[in-house]
Amino acid sequence: MTLVGGVETGGSWCVCAVGSCAGEIVARQRLATTSPEETLAAIIDFFKQAPPVARIGVGSFGPVDLDPRSPTWGYVMATPKPGWEHASVARGLEQALDVKVSFETDVAAAAIGERRWGAGRGTGSLAYMTVGTGIGVGLLLGQEPWHGISHPEVGHVRVPHDRARDPFAGTCPYHGDCLEGLACGPALAARWGRPAEQLQADHPAWELEAEYLAAGLANLVFTVAPERIILGGGVLAAPGLLALVRARLEALLGGYIQSPLLAPGLERYLVAPALGDDAGVLGAIALACQHGEPENRSAPGLTR
Ligand code: ZN
Repeated sequence: MTLVGGVETGGSWCVCAVGSCAGEIVARQRLATTSPEETLAAIIDFFKQAPPVARIGVGSFGPVDLDPRSPTWGYVMATPKPGWEHASVARGLEQALDVKVSFETDVAAAAIGERRWGAGRGTGSLAYMTVGTGIGVGLLLGQEPWHGISHPEVGHVRVPHDRARDPFAGTCPYHGDCLEGLACGPALAARWGRPAEQLQADHPAWELEAEYLAAGLANLVFTVAPERIILGGGVLAAPGLLALVRARLEALLGGYIQSPLLAPGLERYLVAPALGDDAGVLGAIALACQHGEPENRSAPGLTR
């Protein structure tokens, strides 16, 4: 059985695992994310002691440089996370472990994992949106995650903001009241004065949250028309929120796009993730598996 490695780097924690391309995890470890040097050393230590792997997939918090021709490929770029701006993640792993590394955003890796084993099975095009500390979207329009001059930053799209209904200015340090600035977990906490998990199910916060998320998702549907959207992240743990977003998204789409995949209610179109807490690291393993498959080894963007 060929084994591959998966690394999910997050703002607070990193998860390292060794697993098979059938989705079985044989070794795993969770590490605190501290300085880049200390964190990378701990990841390298894990793989030196774990069973040998054929390739490693990394799903990283971003923004990250994914251009294989760039001298800063595999780097974390402008991030508010102290010490991590311009930190090299992928090349350090490749050099220390003498193994190929496939590098993606955390959300793109999660989308690959959900398509291989979870809620995205059978789709040719899939979007994965996570709503937590930030709002990120991974976009699979074909085999590989979509990149242009950058990976997509759908969390930062503009959505209508009625300041009479919601005077909150937004938390995004770059744009103020972009989607992320209005609807990420810290925005909820700042607007209502307590964390999202402490807001009752009938709190007006949730109608407003559904309004913003549905507006962002409508932009996504009208722009790329994916076959399915997976909506996850800590904020979506709120009971009833997914149903509210579905109803509002359906209203905003207005029946304009005709597709059997957009059946009334959107229950099979806008869905929860299926891989739970393991989504991130399984996504990183799935990324390594996808890039290690013989038919993909020469895919554009993988050769360096
Ligand atoms: Zn923004």
